[in-house]
Amino acid sequence: MSKINLKALSKDALGKFVKEQELPTYRAKQILHWIYEKKVESVKDITELSKELREKLSDAAYISNLKLLNRQTSSDGAEKFLFGLEDGESIESVLIPDEDRQTLCISSQVGCTMGCGFCLTGSMGFKKNLWAYEIADQIIAVMKVKSEKFPPRTGSPEEKKVKSDGIKNITNIVFMGMGEPLLNLDEVVEALKRITELLGFSKRRITLSTCGIAPAIAELYKKAPHVNLAISLNATTDDVRNRLMPVNRKYPIRVLLDACRKAKLLLSLRDRITFEYVMIDGVNDSLADAKRLVTLLRGIPSKVNLIPFNPFAGSKFKRPSDERVLAFQEILIGGKIFTFIRKSKGQDILAACGQLKAAYK
Ligand code: SAH
Ligand code: SF4
Repeated sequence: MSKINLKALSKDALGKFVKEQELPTYRAKQILHWIYEKKVESVKDITELSKELREKLSDAAYISNLKLLNRQTSSDGAEKFLFGLEDGESIESVLIPDEDRQTLCISSQVGCTMGCGFCLTGSMGFKKNLWAYEIADQIIAVMKVKSEKFPPRTGSPEEKKVKSDGIKNITNIVFMGMGEPLLNLDEVVEALKRITELLGFSKRRITLSTCGIAPAIAELYKKAPHVNLAISLNATTDDVRNRLMPVNRKYPIRVLLDACRKAKLLLSLRDRITFEYVMIDGVNDSLADAKRLVTLLRGIPSKVNLIPFNPFAGSKFKRPSDERVLAFQEILIGGKIFTFIRKSKGQDILAACGQLKAAYK
């Protein structure tokens, strides 16, 4: 019989497993604590359980761990991690330091089916949906790597090994790595559950970005309310958006924005939807585009992030001049839209938005 991966089990499934092993219910809680808070890598490290019990459990179960295959640090401080999965596939996560926060950008799929022309992930094709535990494990793995740099000074050697400085080394989570999270909704929702309930992140510190799978937006809000939503809009006419993002042929701009308006009704007034707008020279960066964007977003409590295009080898697109980006922003601000310019970090190590490919040979 193959062993059961304890990290792959939901809270309920772990409860069932513990029962099957004829153990008292509180054991499930203990195991969760050791996996998600102490971040142990194997059953035999759960030292709160007797040696005999650990041996018995090890016969039936194990704890999987992402394998750190590569780690690169950018000159601006961003760090990119390449992780190997149990099945041999690989994914990337990026830790982005800012003055007041440390944001971890995580992947939801290996590759992506969406094929957006400006995104390197889109060019690698689609390999698979990540499981909830593979999504959440990116956070655990990065927390562990980071805390090894700053080991706790107190406690027994064993405690030191397992104790991490926890949540403090990551403050925000964004689903903006590889893949389209709304095309892997069930696993993403289960991962969100683990990230909030077991890893202790507030939903307000989690943002999920989608290319615009319109019908899944309401579903996400029902299943995971108050997670921040970001929509990659990237164009103001269907003509241009069709060319940049094939998903627009299925869910054109009007359908997408209607889904956003309807979904907003489910939420409190203080939630705003973020619209990401990758600015590409001569394609979607005209002042007429900026004016159209103001009109399109009317009636949606929104915020716009302008992301100057991040280039990669083989791409036919260019980033616009700083003056152009500023002029575009000015029009949006004039239209009373909160607008920010996001220069993505980590470009020198291909860690910026749209540059992830998990190339590992
Ligand atoms: N699939 C999701 C999340 C991953 S992409 C989505 O598309 O929203 C995260 C963000 O990176 C998106 O807003 C996308 O528009 C942006 N992006 C993709 N390629 C980019 C590039 N080359 N330069 C700048 N931003 C890019
Ligand atoms: Fe996929 Fe998002 Fe990249 Fe489009 S921008 S190819 S949806 S990861």
